[in-house]
Amino acid sequence: MEFESISAPLNQRDVLAQSPAQEDGAYKLTSPQQVAAGLPAVLSSLEYAMKGPGPLKGLALLRTLNQKGGVDCTSCAWPDPEHRSLAEFCENGAKAVADEGTRKRADKQFFVRYSVEELSRRSDYWLNQQGRLTEPLYLAKDSSHYQPIGWDQAIQLTVDRLKGLDNPQQALFYTSGRTSNEAAFLYQLLARRFGTNNLPDCANLCHESSGVGLNDTLGVSKGTVTLYDFYQAEVIVIVGQNPGTNHPRMLTALEKAKKNGARLVSINPLAEAALVRFKNPQDFLHPVHGIQTLLGSGTQMADLHLPVRLNGDVALFQYVCQQLVARGAVEKAFVEGSTSHFATFKAALDREDPQQLLDQCGLSAQQIEPLVDWLAQTRRIVFCWAMGVTQHVNAVDNVRAIVNTCLLRGAIGHPGAGLCPVRGHSNVQGDRTMGITCYPKAAFLDRLGQHFNFTPPRNPGLDTVKAIEAMLARQAHVLVCLGGNFLQASPDTETTALALKHLRLSVQISTKLNRSHLVTGQEALILPCLGRTEADNHQFVTVENSMSIVHSSQGRQTPASPNLRSEVAIVCDLAGSLLNTDWTPYLHNYDRIRSEIEAVIPGFSDFNRRVRHPSGFALPNLPRQGFFLTGDGKAHFSPLQAPSHQLPAGHYHMMTIRSHDQFNTTIYGNDDRYRGVLGKRRVIFLNPEDAALERLKTGDFVDLLGEQGRVAENFMVVVYPIPPGNTATYFPESNVLIPITQVAMGSNTPACKSVMIQLRRR
Ligand code: SF4
Repeated sequence: MEFESISAPLNQRDVLAQSPAQEDGAYKLTSPQQVAAGLPAVLSSLEYAMKGPGPLKGLALLRTLNQKGGVDCTSCAWPDPEHRSLAEFCENGAKAVADEGTRKRADKQFFVRYSVEELSRRSDYWLNQQGRLTEPLYLAKDSSHYQPIGWDQAIQLTVDRLKGLDNPQQALFYTSGRTSNEAAFLYQLLARRFGTNNLPDCANLCHESSGVGLNDTLGVSKGTVTLYDFYQAEVIVIVGQNPGTNHPRMLTALEKAKKNGARLVSINPLAEAALVRFKNPQDFLHPVHGIQTLLGSGTQMADLHLPVRLNGDVALFQYVCQQLVARGAVEKAFVEGSTSHFATFKAALDREDPQQLLDQCGLSAQQIEPLVDWLAQTRRIVFCWAMGVTQHVNAVDNVRAIVNTCLLRGAIGHPGAGLCPVRGHSNVQGDRTMGITCYPKAAFLDRLGQHFNFTPPRNPGLDTVKAIEAMLARQAHVLVCLGGNFLQASPDTETTALALKHLRLSVQISTKLNRSHLVTGQEALILPCLGRTEADNHQFVTVENSMSIVHSSQGRQTPASPNLRSEVAIVCDLAGSLLNTDWTPYLHNYDRIRSEIEAVIPGFSDFNRRVRHPSGFALPNLPRQGFFLTGDGKAHFSPLQAPSHQLPAGHYHMMTIRSHDQFNTTIYGNDDRYRGVLGKRRVIFLNPEDAALERLKTGDFVDLLGEQGRVAENFMVVVYPIPPGNTATYFPESNVLIPITQVAMGSNTPACKSVMIQLRRR
């Protein structure tokens, strides 16, 4: 997309779309840590809980976090064990509830003090530190400051702008993965009754490639394992995932699996601390264990670390499959009885040159051999993955390559085995189950239309990248965001900012201030909602975790302001005016919403009774029992060819990563304790040989140059153990370098993990 072809935006405010390039304050670098969690995690959790909400509220928040009948963590979607610990949370879960429970308030005086232009010159970390939003706010056309506005007026203004559109396809209804099932179900119904399937969501940006790859091969778009499969597995392969920061309680499950004899294999360009050694913070709940853990060196985690090159996964798994086939380590009965397309898969495999595969993944046969040995010895294998697999141009093939290896070993449909895309946002999977998708299945629309007696739109809607393109092309004029930070979660920051400025109206339903409130349409509204930890009229909501367990979550904290509304209430209010329908019965009793869900979505029979079970219930997952929902009822092998990633001289592949002090685009702090970077976010991790070639050393500063003039300024070099030609930076600071056109084939997920860049010394 050429900038010059884009006409002048409606919003002419001089706002910064990126966090300022100048980072003040002291920083410190240490060597990367070799052990994760432990006492530092306990102290950090307590520090956050005490500082933000204050000691009493902080402890109250932690006491109910992930407990039965308590509050489900708003961060990742790692499941809760049946037997909950007294402290059933990790450091990042503690940060999340402390962040929501902060005593700070971004109230109307705050917005009198700061214009949106002034606020945009603050860092994302600073914006998040300003506290909870307290009342609805309106940014009028050509004005510089948000003004308070009444709820009714705000709702009516949104409805007027929606009704003022030429057609419903000019509206976009975005969802972040924090949204509860109840709010998500009503939100999709609102959009479809309004006449559109334009339901982009954060899943488009993360596990869409998993959904497409699994749907193609198994007929379902979700993982197939339970927590108990981890405890019974003999080999657990973790690909492109950093559980220590992004799913920390997974480490407890991995440690338990190891104690049960499992081998762990980490496939990742970076040797992340948590997959080196782990000190379980839960041990500190037991005096003796606590001392042992304190004084000990922790549990050794990965038995094998394969520092694969960025986007070398297809090559690696093709090589592994070649070796397994060569050794006859093919589960014949399973392959013949439960799969199809083995022949085409094998033919494609035989065409691959093993040495070329090794070169492409950047590993040696000796390095990979233990993995092949261990996979050949068992069917009890669990494959887990995250963004390191799903955010590449060939990401869907990455998923297919993992599935091929799994099917070859018959590692699915029985205990201790299966596939596990680990979701990074607490209800991102649940939102999809509720119908938050721009590609709804016909059967779902049939049931929805029949049950609510209307004709749902049938044309595919816009996913997140297509939504940005539609805004740029002035084909979409109103964006409503149910949670999230659309600008910073999206790629190509300056392009996305331009797109947002083309809108007539942007509406953000949020708990805290972020940059998407500052880079807006001509008009903008902030509708402050209740947090998940806050009491909502004695109602509870439900969520679905990575392993398809649906369970309840009930907040009991006093809301940050009496002027907040729940997500459900805001959606009901919008529906009331937009659709001229009365949804207030849903508002007063969420069981009514769940009855509607039960009527429309398979797997939710007797929903209201079953979800009141303290551990909730599992949704049906046929591949877990060895049944596949593909056209022929078999699991499908995929013929693949490993992509080649030749880099021109002086170019590097960059992956965007999270620091340990952030959750998605929410920046809790400027430290990345495990990687040894304290007090700084604009850093680039660079391979020692590459640094020598560039005559750069740790502490030097560079600009990062992307395609078509994209620049990310003022990054400090940190020489780091990362494969040659590969680099890493934190998002959202480097999202500006990711072209909106660089997306995964088949899933349209931005390819944030292999962005081509050059370095320019400052
Ligand atoms: S592992 Fe995930 S869900 Fe559990 S407490 Fe930590 S961040 Fe929250």
